[in-house]
Order: sequence, then C-alpha cells, then structure tokens
Amino acid sequence: MNVMNKLHKNLPGATFKKPKKIIKASVCSSGYYPTDSCKAEKAKIYTDYFVSGSYLCPSEKNPCPVHVATPTPVPPGPEGNGNGNKNNGNG
Ligand SMILES: [Zn+2]
Repeated sequence: MNVMNKLHKNLPGATFKKPKKIIKASVCSSGYYPTDSCKAEKAKIYTDYFVSGSYLCPSEKNPCPVHVATPTPVPPGPEGNGNGNKNNGNG
C-alpha cells in the first residue's frame, strides 16, 4: 500500500500559503500568555506568529507567571522574623 504516492498526486503546485496552523497571538514579554495583570503592570505585550497547539504558543492555560496579581507585599516587620516555622510549602 503506497499511501504517500497517492497523497503526493493531489498536491497543488508550488504555491505557498500561510498555513492554517500558524496563528497570530499576543504574548507577554515573559513569553507567556498575557493576562490582565501584565497589562496592569504595563508589561510589554507583543503580537507574534505561532504554531497553533505548539508548546511555544501562548495559551490561556499557561498564563504569564511573571505578572500575577499579588496582594500588596507586606514589608518584613518585627512580627515576622522569618523563622521558617510556617509550613507554607514554599519549595
Ligand atoms: Zn506578563
């Protein structure tokens, strides 16, 4: 069974069209999918071309981890000595 020959028979000429798999997407300067936090932090957001479904393609499932909405950082005060007694799974 020679499937490839059959497939090649029906190939069009040497015209090149932008493949449908190539999509235009916004990407944060971090290389991830830009979120509202990126915009809030005035991060640079680019528009670029990606292969749809590629791991490089920014996706909502992979939002930018750099510009995340964090609560106001609490400056280290006398109360928190950083004893590391809290088991917050930081590692
Ligand atoms: Zn970002």
